Amino acid sequence: MTDRKDRTVFDSWKLTGELANFILNQDGLTHLDDWGGKEMVREILPEDYQANFDRVQTDLVNCILKEKNRASAHAFVDNITAYTDWLNGMLDRGKLACYHYFPISVEIMLALDVAPICYEVACGLNAALYTEGSEEGIDRIEAEGYPDHLCSTQKGTAGYLLMGVLPKPDVLIKTATPCDASNRLYEWTSHKFKAPLLTVETPYYRNDRGLKYMMRELKLMISQLEKLSGNTLDEDKLREYCHFGNQTLDYFLKIQELKKIIPCPDTGWHRPADTIFMTQVGTPMGVDYFKRLYEDIKARAERGQGVIPEGVRERRVVYGYTWEVYDLSFFDWLEDNLGVTYMADTLTYLPPDVGFVDTTNMETMLEGLAWRTLQMPMGRQVMGFSDIWINDFANLVQAYKADALIMGGHMACKHFWALNKLMSDKVKEETGVPTLRFEMDMFDKRFTPPSELRRIMTEFFNTL
Ligand code: SF4
Repeated sequence: MTDRKDRTVFDSWKLTGELANFILNQDGLTHLDDWGGKEMVREILPEDYQANFDRVQTDLVNCILKEKNRASAHAFVDNITAYTDWLNGMLDRGKLACYHYFPISVEIMLALDVAPICYEVACGLNAALYTEGSEEGIDRIEAEGYPDHLCSTQKGTAGYLLMGVLPKPDVLIKTATPCDASNRLYEWTSHKFKAPLLTVETPYYRNDRGLKYMMRELKLMISQLEKLSGNTLDEDKLREYCHFGNQTLDYFLKIQELKKIIPCPDTGWHRPADTIFMTQVGTPMGVDYFKRLYEDIKARAERGQGVIPEGVRERRVVYGYTWEVYDLSFFDWLEDNLGVTYMADTLTYLPPDVGFVDTTNMETMLEGLAWRTLQMPMGRQVMGFSDIWINDFANLVQAYKADALIMGGHMACKHFWALNKLMSDKVKEETGVPTLRFEMDMFDKRFTPPSELRRIMTEFFNTL
């Protein structure tokens, strides 16, 4: 069983969820300045919340207090609270701590009664919530000698493991996709903490042959996990979790359709959080988050409302790769200051043919989960033929009637730097839509700070 002090990161999320609910429930509070600023609001908080409140990004608090963001904010904070309770409960009951790469199905892990912890979420959520972000973890692993140009989506978590603020892994699961950078840190973690690493090889081809290969790999992973956990994969349990996954995907795909409406009825601030909560596909918390999001977006669409100020012309963007998680309020700033709405990106897009898991029997369920794993964000785009990625975005720009393609290039994704000109040329040729390209780091704000993001966007949209 993991030690309670090894759960400092989880406990701080739970406290942040409770704190956010407390703040959202204060009548008449729509901005911290309404009540004299952050210092003054701190004084009305229960003492237990104050230190946590100091850490939470001020702009994020003001962002979630806005009327248009409240429903999604409630769904977000309720999810964090429920998720940490659920995870802590599993760890308290002595379940194996299974760190996994984000596109892997948690349905299988849950049906095998192990506690899934998404490696990338562990530092991603810290980057999203707190002023200090995930930098302490990143610095810690780099001090160990890990190269700084590799991926912060794992570096932060690796650092936290060294700092002893996350549970030690009992087992790790990693798809070979999408990149060497991520594979290296899973290998490091396996060696450092003497935890077995289950590698799931992934095919290049997204066809029947590729699917069969993926099924074989998934079955191998299951047999290894069965040996390690001492449990056998239970068909009924797997079916139960697959139903949760299907419900979540149903809401997710409906949201994708709603975002095509003009004006866009969905707020952009939670787009990175949507990726975080996609790691909960297969859990009741995942269903709840995407259901509430769907209801909020649908209601706004039915009222014919958008999310930008009245009288401002909407400029719709699609991100050709990833978001920056360290500044959620940036996407709200884009709406309110530049009239820019944010439709989709590689990390929150699922192709319509991903479909649902057929729960008829064990074989159909594994086939559905294998297919979904192949199509999940990053896996689908990064380890495969670049035509898939390029065509996806040429189609998305058209489907969402986007005015610009934004390509924030994460510094660790070497493959992306090879691809971005091909994609922007193709999108320009097929749609006439221009592309903005710039460098950033998805989790580490020191690379392209929030003020620089705003400067880049202002310059681009003033020119556009
Ligand atoms: S963000 Fe890029 S470098 Fe990091 S894990 Fe994903 S593909 Fe690899």
